[in-house]
Amino acid sequence: MDKPVYKRVLLKLSGEALAGECGHGIDNDIVNQIAVSIKELHDLGVEVAIVVGGGNFWRGRSSDGMDRSTADYMGMLATVINSLAMQDALENIGVLTRVQTAIEMRQIAEPYIRRKAVRHLDKGRVVIFAAGTGNPYFSTDTAAALRSAEIEAEVILLAKKVDGVYDSDPKLNPNAVKFDKLSYMDVLKRGLKVMDSTATSLCMDNKIPIRVFGLDNPRNIVDIVLGKSIGTSVEEE
Ligand code: UDP
Repeated sequence: MDKPVYKRVLLKLSGEALAGECGHGIDNDIVNQIAVSIKELHDLGVEVAIVVGGGNFWRGRSSDGMDRSTADYMGMLATVINSLAMQDALENIGVLTRVQTAIEMRQIAEPYIRRKAVRHLDKGRVVIFAAGTGNPYFSTDTAAALRSAEIEAEVILLAKKVDGVYDSDPKLNPNAVKFDKLSYMDVLKRGLKVMDSTATSLCMDNKIPIRVFGLDNPRNIVDIVLGKSIGTSVEEE
């Protein structure tokens, strides 16, 4: 049997990845398929933490005319909806999970406590980090970078709607070229759309490798952890 190349991973699921074709709301079939792949990882003995985005419901920066902080808090609440959906799908197939929120909502989830999160991971529970960093003006990509550093995840698995990082938008340019490997500096200097620059810098400063891949096939999550070269790697030069 193939062996996993990572012991502890942080999976970042964008809100869009949980939505169906229309890009909005939650598609239960998709969430269930992702849950099956996460279970496979878990059954391989890999410790899995997840950060879920909220863009399928709300993005602070696209709310014209609204106070930015208020709009961002709304976005953080959207990530909680997605996190509970992911938790439900995982628990339905027998994977023990804990949701931890960066903004306290004790009736529905634990507050984020780093040492507790690590303990859950040690015990084989999947930990879902909700409400981003808890701060406006940040993104869930930054939350993914921050939590990865805190829990000492070996890699961020950055699941996207596209199958890697391209030099231009592959939906608009049929000649767009996909990169296999990039340095953090390449991403920052060329303004490539991997993560926002705050998140990329945090990964660079803390030497956290990022693997960008498409969730069109949810099994990609497992294949990457089994060492297959899929998508684009972003790491130190
Ligand atoms: N957000 C925030 N602080 C955080 C994380 C998220 O303010 O630490 C807000 C922000 O408004 C963002 C929204 O939550 O637009 C949804 O998160 P994001 O856009 O990162 O989700 P994704 O694009 O991954 O679905």
